[in-house]
Amino acid sequence: MKIGFIGLGIMGSAMASNLLKSGHDLFVYNRTKEKADELVKQGAIWKESPAAVAKEIDVLFTMLEDPKAVESLALDTDGFLNEMKKGNIWIDSSTVNPSFTKKMSEKAIAKHIRFLDAPVSGSKVPAEKGELLFLVGGEKADMDEVQPLFDLMGQKAVHIGNHGKGSAMKLMINQLLGQSMLAFSESLSLGMAMGLDKKMAMDVLLKTPVTAPILNVFRSRIEDENYEANFPLKHLQKDLHLFTETAFELNKAVPLTNAAKEVYAQAKQKGQADLDFSSIFKFINE
Ligand code: NAP
Repeated sequence: MKIGFIGLGIMGSAMASNLLKSGHDLFVYNRTKEKADELVKQGAIWKESPAAVAKEIDVLFTMLEDPKAVESLALDTDGFLNEMKKGNIWIDSSTVNPSFTKKMSEKAIAKHIRFLDAPVSGSKVPAEKGELLFLVGGEKADMDEVQPLFDLMGQKAVHIGNHGKGSAMKLMINQLLGQSMLAFSESLSLGMAMGLDKKMAMDVLLKTPVTAPILNVFRSRIEDENYEANFPLKHLQKDLHLFTETAFELNKAVPLTNAAKEVYAQAKQKGQADLDFSSIFKFINE
């Protein structure tokens, strides 16, 4: 099977590498060409534009920053959607909002392209190990057809529902992730101000059922003050924004998410956009 992969950032490069190892022909494009160098060394075929990738393939994965990037590479001059062949499958693994996903699925279907939203849960290390969780929206039959590809990159793919439902599930997960990290940071920071030892306070908090299990992953980052990005803070803030935008579209109030989003926005303004999102502790504690 000929596969295209567009978007070779932290996640895309690791996911594409796992596809390549299986012996499929892999055609790649990224805005910043150098990020494809390693994959090309491993056997991927570089193409100069999204359209040039689309001409070669049966299945296309996109793993891009946000809706603006997806829309631009799909529909602008040299975009991929015009060049994909009827019956091809476009799988968008970017974290975007459900209404945007529905809009893209309609544009794809109008061109007789099959579409799946398949955002992932899991960060850089699970992506490298092929242990992601795919949250899939779209036709189950289409998902079944590309299940072997999900298996190369992930430990599981779950069919969540029709188009947009994968994106919806992903936004819920990241809303909880962002809020959990922020609440933990605020609690720990005040604990330290009250004179508690940081290590001891983390030991106790992380063993109580009131903290989210995922926070154990970020403990060493807070201890070592190493915030090199696996999941950049600007992307978490983007996801909280997409959650609040979706709430606006659905006439729902999400006051806690709006407040959390603004704290991450302030950290971004203070120069933490490209640090790991767990650096919100550093922002809170300064
Ligand atoms: P990243 O390293 O910042 O990569 C972003 C990708 O989008 C790069 O290929 C970048 O191209 C491209 N891009 C951004 N704006 C563009 C534009 N205007 N036009 C063309 N290309 C553009 O991000 P990532 O961590 O891999 O995340 C990718 C997606 O997965 C995001 O939606 C993120 O929220 C989601 N996600 C991330 C994680 C994680 O832990 N990192 C986990 C799950 C989901 P350049 O290389 O040229 O900048």
